[in-house]
Amino acid sequence: MAMWLSRCLLALFLGLTGVAHGASAEPESDKDNAGKSAYLTLIIDDLGQNPERDRRALALPGPVTLAIMPDTPHATDFAREAHKAGKTVILHMPMDPATGPYAWRPDLPMEELAKRLNDALLKVPYAAGLNNHEGSRMTAQPEAMGWLVAELQRRHLFLIDSRTSAKTVAAAQAQLIGLASASRDVFLDDVRTPEAVATQLKTAIRLAHKQGSVIMIGHPYPVTLDLLERELPGLKAQGINWIDVRRMISVRGNGAMAAHGKNGVYHKTAAAHPAKPSEPKAAPVTPSAPATPTKPDAPPAPTTPAEPAIPDAPSTPAAAAPDAPAAPAAPAAPAATEQEPPAEL
Ligand SMILES: [Zn+2]
Repeated sequence: MAMWLSRCLLALFLGLTGVAHGASAEPESDKDNAGKSAYLTLIIDDLGQNPERDRRALALPGPVTLAIMPDTPHATDFAREAHKAGKTVILHMPMDPATGPYAWRPDLPMEELAKRLNDALLKVPYAAGLNNHEGSRMTAQPEAMGWLVAELQRRHLFLIDSRTSAKTVAAAQAQLIGLASASRDVFLDDVRTPEAVATQLKTAIRLAHKQGSVIMIGHPYPVTLDLLERELPGLKAQGINWIDVRRMISVRGNGAMAAHGKNGVYHKTAAAHPAKPSEPKAAPVTPSAPATPTKPDAPPAPTTPAEPAIPDAPSTPAAAAPDAPAAPAAPAAPAATEQEPPAEL
């Protein structure tokens, strides 16, 4: 046991200090970026189910964002506790293939989606924003996502696109209307072993140095919490500036990272072609859209304007390509980061 642990720690140390990685991936560009800001934001999903684990997430030493599921026994109590502790709370909104009384599904009428969102927000008081739980099917629906982002804007809430699928259009729709939003870069614990989680954290740190910022999402699994409790206090020494999710949205100014778009503009997927005949159910969405989705009441407005790079991007051939690996700066293995997390807690 002691042997295993020390080997584990050594591997982790080597990994985190870059010793084990030095020769492999673009050391030059890392060097070029030395001294630049490297911001990191951490979101813990799936909270509200287990008070003991939830409290460990709450106690992480920094501005962790706590994403609480509405259909959990402790959602409301934990949201209050987290808010009181000064942490940012967001609604972790179940979306198809997730199921349950609040889950958004493409076949539901708009009124039902609206009701479910409203009910979910009532279960998670103090929510400052929303990110999706699962949702690989739902977040690919342009009309529903279009309605969602307008509604979030009306409520002065921000959006974090968890990117459980490369086909998501959620952040792209948010960008179109200037809603404060950002996208997840790295999932920490798709594979729940100490080694895999440590590797993902290392990937996140490298990405932060490379592109200036990283948003990582983890879950309250013991293996994830063990690692975070151990490693987060050392982030600063590695040149990482751990910031709150709102500030991250400001830092990014709503722009897409290289792995998700081009020149700050999200790749055009289905968002560029909202009227897909294959999605008749979503069509009646638009009429009930809330107040004109104009920009004035963009929520925690990024310091840089919410829509720096939003000009109607010329619809390039990239339009049809999903989240193509066109972007050169996508070091995180797409297979590990774009997939739906395996059966969440
Ligand atoms: Zn989740």
